[in-house]
Amino acid sequence: MTTPKPAAHAAASPTGDPWLLTPGPLTTSPLVKLAMVHDYGSRDARFIAINRRLRERLVAIAGAEGTHACVPLQGSGTFVVEAMIGTFVPAGGKLLILVNGAYCRRIARICETIGRAYACQATPEDVPVDPEELDRALAADAAITHVAVIHCETTSGILNPLREVAEVTARHGRALLIDAMSAFGAIPLDAQAIRFDALVASSNKCLEGSPGMGYCIARTEVLQATKGNAPSLSLDLYDQWTAMEANGQWRFTPPTHCILALDQALDEFDAEGGVEGRGGRYRENCGILVAGLRAMGFRTLLPDALQAPIIVTVHKPADPRFEFETFYNRLSDAGYLIYPGKLTVADSFRIGCIGRLGAEQMHGVLAAIRDVLAEMGVRECGPQLAGKR
Ligand SMILES: *Cc1c(COP(=O)(O)O)cnc(C)c1O
Repeated sequence: MTTPKPAAHAAASPTGDPWLLTPGPLTTSPLVKLAMVHDYGSRDARFIAINRRLRERLVAIAGAEGTHACVPLQGSGTFVVEAMIGTFVPAGGKLLILVNGAYCRRIARICETIGRAYACQATPEDVPVDPEELDRALAADAAITHVAVIHCETTSGILNPLREVAEVTARHGRALLIDAMSAFGAIPLDAQAIRFDALVASSNKCLEGSPGMGYCIARTEVLQATKGNAPSLSLDLYDQWTAMEANGQWRFTPPTHCILALDQALDEFDAEGGVEGRGGRYRENCGILVAGLRAMGFRTLLPDALQAPIIVTVHKPADPRFEFETFYNRLSDAGYLIYPGKLTVADSFRIGCIGRLGAEQMHGVLAAIRDVLAEMGVRECGPQLAGKR
């Protein structure tokens, strides 16, 4: 890659970079970028105070004050997913993974890698995970100690029935681990209504900070009992938590700039009206995008009732003149980065609604898509899937 040249499109971002309509990294606000100009030492009292405040704010977003603690961790989202599995599922435990996309399959790979017993309960990528099937599986297998679920499966953009999954899991006395990576901060999740032992998310999805760290919101009494579980030193959330509680510091070099950016991003999150405001903007983005794509003849993968306002999966047009690489590159030249599909069931691409984007960028990308399709000579945008949704 060469250095990004300013986008030719009229609606270029303030920095001239393309708008990121992807599942991450995402477009950040000017003030979030600006927050990163400071160099802080890891022992600086001001920095330690920011960390403390940040952890409290993240717990509050989950409505988990008094029951859960926030343990932040360096790395991308997968690092904290792996840390959660390794720290909470003990060597003798067994994890049931509810699978309807690539991110749940990644949890299965984590179990293989770190040596945790697991089972998968799968539904197709365009079907939510099934709480009734979960009920039967938990009744049938007493060895299962934990259940893992993805709130929004970013593979397709599908919203999973978290409340029902939590209810069934709690009724069977098992522990729930949630990957809320692409939903946290935009889709309501109240720890007092949804019982979970641990939830993970990251700095750069719906909270719109910079990429570089994840965090786990963990039930404090459960976290206290996880000493020695983790098969890794750097991904041990118990060790990270106890060290941070002891002196307010991170065990290893903290992602200082990322933390400052997230603190600023949370100010903007609050100013926008928290989860309700953030989710509202994303729902508006998603609505504009889906309506505009359908008006052009594209078919989206999911019916509206299952579509989370996070990322939209679109079937690839059957028209032989549609070639994804060309489509992608020309949209990129116009100032909009979209994302390839990750489905195993159909040829698709994805367009994200999250990050510092609004109606202007949604209308902008739709206009750019119209122009690019005309240049490519694509007339039919429908997929080659007679009979399928
Ligand atoms: C983004 C994401 C992750 C983490 O991915 P990284 O590339 O490691 O940041 C995990 N789960 C879901 C559902 C995600 O959307």
